[in-house]
Amino acid sequence: MSKGKLAVVALIVAAIAAFFAFDLKQYLSLEVIKSQSESLKALVAANPVKTAATFFAIYVAVTGLSLPGAGILTLVAGAVFGFLWGVVLVSFASSIGATIAFLASRYLLRDWVQSKFARFLKPINEGIEKDGAFYLLSMRLIPQIPFFVINLVMGLTPIRTTTFYWVSQVGMFAGTLAYVYAGTQLAQVTSVKDVLSPGLITAFLILAVFPLAAKKIVDGIRARKVYAKWPKPAKFDRNMVVIGAGSAGLVSAYIAAAVKAKVTLVERHKMGGDCLNTGCVPSKALIKTAKLLHQIRHASDYGVKSASAELDFAQAMERVKKVVATVEPHDSVERYTGLGVECVKGSARITSPWSVEVELAEGGKRTFTTKNIVIATGARPFIPPIPGLGEANPLHSDNVWDLRVQPKRLVVLGGGPIGSELAQAFARLGSKVTQIEMLPRIMAKEDPEFSEMVARRFREDGIEVLVGHKAKEVRVEGGEKIVVVEHEGAEKRIACDEILCAVGRAANTQGFGLEELGIGLTKQRTVEVNEYLQATYPNIYACGDAIGPYQFTHTASHTAWYCAVNGLFGRFKRFKVDYSVIPWATFTDPEVARVGLNETEAKEKGIACDVFTYGIDDLDRAIAESENRGLVKVLTAKGTDKIIGCTIAGANAGETIVEFVAAMRHGFGLNKILGTIHIYPTWAESNKYAAGVWKRSTVTRGQMEVATTFNDWTRGDAGVGAVIAKLFSLGDKRPYYQVAESHGDD
Ligand SMILES: Cc1cc2nc3c(=O)[nH]c(=O)nc-3n(C[C@H](O)[C@H](O)[C@H](O)COP(=O)(O)OP(=O)(O)OC[C@H]3O[C@@H](n4cnc5c(N)ncnc54)[C@H](O)[C@@H]3O)c2cc1C
Repeated sequence: MSKGKLAVVALIVAAIAAFFAFDLKQYLSLEVIKSQSESLKALVAANPVKTAATFFAIYVAVTGLSLPGAGILTLVAGAVFGFLWGVVLVSFASSIGATIAFLASRYLLRDWVQSKFARFLKPINEGIEKDGAFYLLSMRLIPQIPFFVINLVMGLTPIRTTTFYWVSQVGMFAGTLAYVYAGTQLAQVTSVKDVLSPGLITAFLILAVFPLAAKKIVDGIRARKVYAKWPKPAKFDRNMVVIGAGSAGLVSAYIAAAVKAKVTLVERHKMGGDCLNTGCVPSKALIKTAKLLHQIRHASDYGVKSASAELDFAQAMERVKKVVATVEPHDSVERYTGLGVECVKGSARITSPWSVEVELAEGGKRTFTTKNIVIATGARPFIPPIPGLGEANPLHSDNVWDLRVQPKRLVVLGGGPIGSELAQAFARLGSKVTQIEMLPRIMAKEDPEFSEMVARRFREDGIEVLVGHKAKEVRVEGGEKIVVVEHEGAEKRIACDEILCAVGRAANTQGFGLEELGIGLTKQRTVEVNEYLQATYPNIYACGDAIGPYQFTHTASHTAWYCAVNGLFGRFKRFKVDYSVIPWATFTDPEVARVGLNETEAKEKGIACDVFTYGIDDLDRAIAESENRGLVKVLTAKGTDKIIGCTIAGANAGETIVEFVAAMRHGFGLNKILGTIHIYPTWAESNKYAAGVWKRSTVTRGQMEVATTFNDWTRGDAGVGAVIAKLFSLGDKRPYYQVAESHGDD
């Protein structure tokens, strides 16, 4: 625990101890107050400001420290200061005191509670972020929930302090009126509890339900209002129309058909979308050729005396095309038609919340009325507005697959996953690659050591990795392309044959009716959806790259499930999208795979954690394959084996990480991974060794001393008394092995 926190704890403990040690509670009893009320009134009459200020300070201290007595003090306020001033004093003092208690709880406990129960608290946090003010207001109005409990509990949530303050003041106002008024009639009050009659309690409970009920009604009205100008058909042609047959659209349509819904899937280009045609599949196919060439070039490392390879780039690209064609039937019109999906080729436009018009590829138009619409229109390569770039006809992930002549010199703009995968692939195929990244490192979403590992490998592959370089302009001079970059104030020209632009992907959200319907977009220009993946109109859903933030095939299908199920069955049960355990991998060499938090994010978010690493240079299988490079880095909630994130770099990292994904998803920790038999010698053994590092961190000096003496005793080198005496050293909890790095407070 930090010094600051220790000081706050000490202060609170001292104040509470003083309160009880000096039996200050006795002054906060009804009898004492009644007997002293006249002399207190006299004090107010003699010195009103000073008495009011003293009372205010006492009230703030009692509530701030969560001491008993706030109810009595409120009665005193009414009895001594009268109704008006009593209400003013109590209303502000109670709100300030509550906020102090709230802040203390937040400062001392929130990080710990949030990291310890992160998964459990996630939906609560989201609810609080969205409707926190309403929950707080309701709680404040329920007299059965103690005042101090609300302060302390709310301090653990993400509610803003200002919101907490004003909602508390409003929410406590009715109670303040009741108690202060009772104080003005002090003679009739026999117990603090009597202040609230059964009738008053019922009134408060009704008031408490009111804010949330009112919000639900307002939400309902608002949801209906968006439909106001659109006439609703009496009947629908379809249960669901899905726009876009990429990874997301295919899954929504598949699920709809599987449950016998009438579903139409509209695709304007190619079934399978980006992943099949221009994304995952072709890129992995190309990476395979590049890897093979790399291995042949390094054959001598494996004892192969001579091996050489000559690349036929056009043939390699034709193979990529063939791979796509081989996978194509999985996503084909034939397959989906067979599954019960009506596949329509054409360009879809949403013309009302219940109708989609399709400009058919074969000519003509068709309009479908539909109960639900799923927007699964994906994303496209983003071409930044760099002067001259557009005119230079850059390559990007949509058109690079059409290349049949290998660029001798290639500039790759972008150090993210797509840029990095393609930069390395082209370099290994023999292009002279220069990779330009504006940020200080490539693969900037990963921890720095992983970026560095990949960058080092890239340099070994002959890639010139220019980080902190900003592309300013592109020129075409004498048949060659020149990329002008700026680095630390200086300009540099990089000549090349082709430029591959991989600086991000923009969601397809324009030109198909969203503007006309007023469907909301986020700052990133993705479709704005709620936690059920509903867009502005609750019967219009969106998924995949069209919503982000994770632009992967597996997240596209994950989100597509929610669209289909919520759209078709939402009237019975709706599911909130769950982004808690999203894995991904970048298929460079070394592969970098991640699930959950990395160390950089944990630090940024102030999440207390322990970090355990295992170097793959030590792994038998990796050594056997001369691939002994890489790292497993696991983050656990501080002081536990509960995994909150893992990054793996190394061969097959995308496969190896699955065990951590399963652990996070299903809530088992490193101890269970350690207790699982892993086949020898496999890459997955690295997971077990990482778990072993965690286990070593739990061994204390005390335990080791006892173990040593016990073994001495079994050999006859120590007496039983020594063993018993050593048991006392179990209290020494200092780690025996210093293997973990820790962040945040206990
Ligand atoms: C080079 C590259 C490599 C990648 N590698 C991986 C990887 O290894 N692993 C991974 O998980 N992800 C990878 N991705 C990302 C992955 O391809 C996408 O996240 C995924 O394809 C998104 O699926 P989607 O269904 O949301 O969109 P898309 O696949 O883009 O599908 C959207 C479809 O909607 C159609 N459409 C759009 N508007 C309309 C309209 N008005 N009417 C009719 N049809 C319309 C489009 O033609 C398109 O076919 C990669 C991407 C690229 C570019």
